[in-house]
Amino acid sequence: MRVIHRSADRRIRRWLGIAGVAGAVTLVAGFLTPIPAGAFDDFGIGCADDTSASIAFGSDSRWSWVVTHGPDAGKSFEEAVRSGRDMWVGHEIERWQGGYALGGGSPTMTMQFTWLTGGWASTDCIDDVVRFSKYQADKFRDGSIVLSGLAAHEWGHVWGLGHAGRHDSFGGGPPTMSTCWSDMGPQRIVSQDDSAGIQFQTNKSGRYGAATANPSFEEGFRWWGFQNVGSKQIFYSGGQDGSPNFLRFGGSGANTAIFSTTRITDSWYDGDQIGAIVKGRVNYKKAYSQSRGHVLVVAKWAHVDFSGSGQNWNECQLLPTNLNGSQSTGSYEFQRTRYCYPGSGWGYCTTLYGTVASSDSGGRKPEALQMRIVVYNRMTIGGDPVKVGIDRTRILVIPS
Ligand SMILES: [Zn+2]
Repeated sequence: MRVIHRSADRRIRRWLGIAGVAGAVTLVAGFLTPIPAGAFDDFGIGCADDTSASIAFGSDSRWSWVVTHGPDAGKSFEEAVRSGRDMWVGHEIERWQGGYALGGGSPTMTMQFTWLTGGWASTDCIDDVVRFSKYQADKFRDGSIVLSGLAAHEWGHVWGLGHAGRHDSFGGGPPTMSTCWSDMGPQRIVSQDDSAGIQFQTNKSGRYGAATANPSFEEGFRWWGFQNVGSKQIFYSGGQDGSPNFLRFGGSGANTAIFSTTRITDSWYDGDQIGAIVKGRVNYKKAYSQSRGHVLVVAKWAHVDFSGSGQNWNECQLLPTNLNGSQSTGSYEFQRTRYCYPGSGWGYCTTLYGTVASSDSGGRKPEALQMRIVVYNRMTIGGDPVKVGIDRTRILVIPS
């Protein structure tokens, strides 16, 4: 959570200063002026100037040590760290127009062991170094700190992501950028919110970032929920804006919908999301030329208030709301909508925009924003529901 803004060229240092305390973790304070470090809203100021960074290893005999227990067992330290970095690179996060979002190139980030106090590892975008603590080397070796998970987390900082809370908004395990797990083991897996954070940096629409994981279905159905959907099919060519994939889906009636959920974590300062502009956008077209009807696009958002005191502690609590429920049960206070009428070619449908309020009806500030994009298919032929084609389906956000 600690970020040091050292110079005008936006290069920064990030620290994961963690001291494990009986099932909880405490971030160690004590650095210079913090700047916003939410999951998304500090996008674009990581070490990677674009979406490329290569890995190198400084000279240290520890890189050949072999992990004895846990998910990295049998790997050398170097292999474990490489696997944490490769979690982001070789798969998982695809560009909406095809191919992978992250890869090698400049800068070269050098992995080092140093006598790093007050933490397990840190990412330094000034010297392009990721430092691992010599003090923790025995824990890395016995697996009580999972080195691949720690490396994956630091590489999230390299790509420009800040920290996230305990649970991914997809409802699964923690984001890689979570600081809420004491051994870093679950962080080895890149989650929906991690992927959405990268999408937000790389998938721009004018001044808007597109904060939805897999918005162009390049990863198939992954990260999407379905309601009353009877048939769905990914097509592998002919998508909009050069993206090869698109989705056709249909179902049984007016409540046939797909949806995807994203959470943007607030930054170091409360209230950074206030005033952000939110809307939804979908590319769509008829699946059958004789079909008639509309699609209904809904952009929803809700304030998430991590109750209690102390930001990092708060973000590690379970959320009391049902925001991760199905489209029917998920409860979102704010929304904007638009009805659109598909034609035979790709068009796009944009909801009205909304501005994130300073508090919701329950007095909650937007310490985190949970957002959902929903597309209802109400296309018919002769009164019978039929499929519709959609692509690039995402929540758009301009941070305030
Ligand atoms: Zn961190």
